[in-house]
Amino acid sequence: MKIVMLGAPGAGKGTQASMIAENFGIPHISTGDIFRANIKNGTELGKEAKAYMDKGELVPDELTVRLLLDRVAQDDCKEGYVLDGFPRTIPQAEVLEKELEKTGDKIDKAVNVDVPDENIVRRMSGRRACLKCGATYHIVHIPPKKEGICDVCGSELVLRDDDKEETVKNRLDVYHKQTSPLIDFYSKRNVLETVDGTKDSKEVFEDIKKILK
Ligand SMILES: [Zn+2]
Repeated sequence: MKIVMLGAPGAGKGTQASMIAENFGIPHISTGDIFRANIKNGTELGKEAKAYMDKGELVPDELTVRLLLDRVAQDDCKEGYVLDGFPRTIPQAEVLEKELEKTGDKIDKAVNVDVPDENIVRRMSGRRACLKCGATYHIVHIPPKKEGICDVCGSELVLRDDDKEETVKNRLDVYHKQTSPLIDFYSKRNVLETVDGTKDSKEVFEDIKKILK
């Protein structure tokens, strides 16, 4: 089964993608991982991607799609895969569709993990991180034993810039402009499934399992 994950940044789609991958025995594919692997292995595509990144430019859609197609052509993807963070825009989705069609393939399901913006802002702004050891906490859901102090190494916990309300809102704006139109795109192809992402991640996964069965 070929699955695309949709959902706002912070909705928990990465977590769900990992759980799907593990449960169904298919690879969890994120574009970040593909970039890193190709650059590390010094592939031709990796070199091309790195040239853009070194200049501080975005990797063009066309190259991102080539990297992705190269990844899904590998043996471990024969039974399917979960795409996380791709496609991000309608043009990417269109190129992906066209390329998959060439081999008689298509996306079977697009799973939309739906969480209202205000919940995401609340979730993210409650996060606390230890910059020394990398441990992460949440003031409500995973509080440290002692307020503001890392359980693991005793360092002071901080609210990362990435988790600040304004940063989160900016990311959500970009998502609504660029990525949320994909919900409509996959809905028109009758493969869209929406789950309530405000539930506990285990419950969300139970709902996803029912859909994918
Ligand atoms: Zn720590």
